Amino acid sequence: MRYLESREKSAELLRLALPLMAQQLAGFHPLSYTLWYEHLAGINPQLSEQLASRLGSGQALSDEDVFALYDRHIVARDMKSLQALQQQLLKLLEGVSEVTAQATDHTGQFERSLELNQGRLKSAESLEGIHAVVADLLSESQRVHTLTQVVVKKLESRAQEVGELRHALNVAQAEASVDPLTGLKNRRAFEKAVKEIEEEAGGLVGAALLLFDVDHFKKVNDTWGHLLGDKVLRSVAQVLQSNIKGRDIAARLGGEEFAVLLVRATPGGALALAEQIRGLIAHARLRSITSGELVGEVTVSAGLAAAGPGDSLETMLRRADDALYRAKGTGRNRVCQA
Ligand code: GH3
Ligand code: MG
Ligand code: MG
Repeated sequence: MRYLESREKSAELLRLALPLMAQQLAGFHPLSYTLWYEHLAGINPQLSEQLASRLGSGQALSDEDVFALYDRHIVARDMKSLQALQQQLLKLLEGVSEVTAQATDHTGQFERSLELNQGRLKSAESLEGIHAVVADLLSESQRVHTLTQVVVKKLESRAQEVGELRHALNVAQAEASVDPLTGLKNRRAFEKAVKEIEEEAGGLVGAALLLFDVDHFKKVNDTWGHLLGDKVLRSVAQVLQSNIKGRDIAARLGGEEFAVLLVRATPGGALALAEQIRGLIAHARLRSITSGELVGEVTVSAGLAAAGPGDSLETMLRRADDALYRAKGTGRNRVCQA
């Protein structure tokens, strides 16, 4: 979504949003601000309805409420506009095939007129007769030339429209598939990317799925603030992204939960990589955003599932999640295998 409000208008919206955000339990993070901004700017009527009724009931919004509203009214809206763009593109393509059909029609007419004039030429008995055929041919080819010019013009303008739409589609697609906080793929994009790999390779055999969940993240937020929490999420994302290669995929599934799909990995190799990532995160030292103080150890737990025959992303997620649950139950800051 591109925001079109002027600098002055947006400054006014910021002034209005702050006291409203202060009344809520949720943090002052970008997701909260997006909700209040769109509400105050009057550009998201369904979201406004929800927020107005919450304001009316005096029930403060928690972080969980904010995340849910964001998914329903921001992410889903962006998906909708993506679909609308796809529809527009389809319509345009139909237009192009119509124009091409017209062009074929004109060429057909021209061919018939050529045949006709060939016959007339053969049977012409006088110079006048030949002159008449040549004049007809000339005017017919001029007519076709003009028609062809029209078709070419139409096709050119259609091609330009297709180019513009394709650009808009790329932008919308990137916005709808990227997690704004970390820059990783979001859950939807992760599922799509895994599906593509599955279809290409005829299954997931040979792949491995790693699930990571930040330990006691609620406490990190409570102790160091939501902004530092966000910084932790970005740093986890960065470690994941820089430790995978090729077609492997890292994604933020939601909240403080991340997934990595290793396209080709032995169970031993996947375990070693998960351990390496876990170690790197445990040894990273972040500083508080406000005081610069070193933040204590932030760790992750991980669950690992290697794909067997007949496995889908869903069955792997289930097993990796069970393994992750075990890692949490047996002390955290560890990797468990399904
Ligand atoms: P556990 O070790 O069992 O995983 O405990 P936990 O505290 O990490 O787990 P819990 O599910 O209780 O808490 C997750 C917290 O993550 C709660 C929620 O406010 C916070 N959270 C979710 N999304 C975000 C986000 O985008 N930014 C920040 N800063 N916090 C978030
Ligand atoms: Mg969690
Ligand atoms: Mg957690």
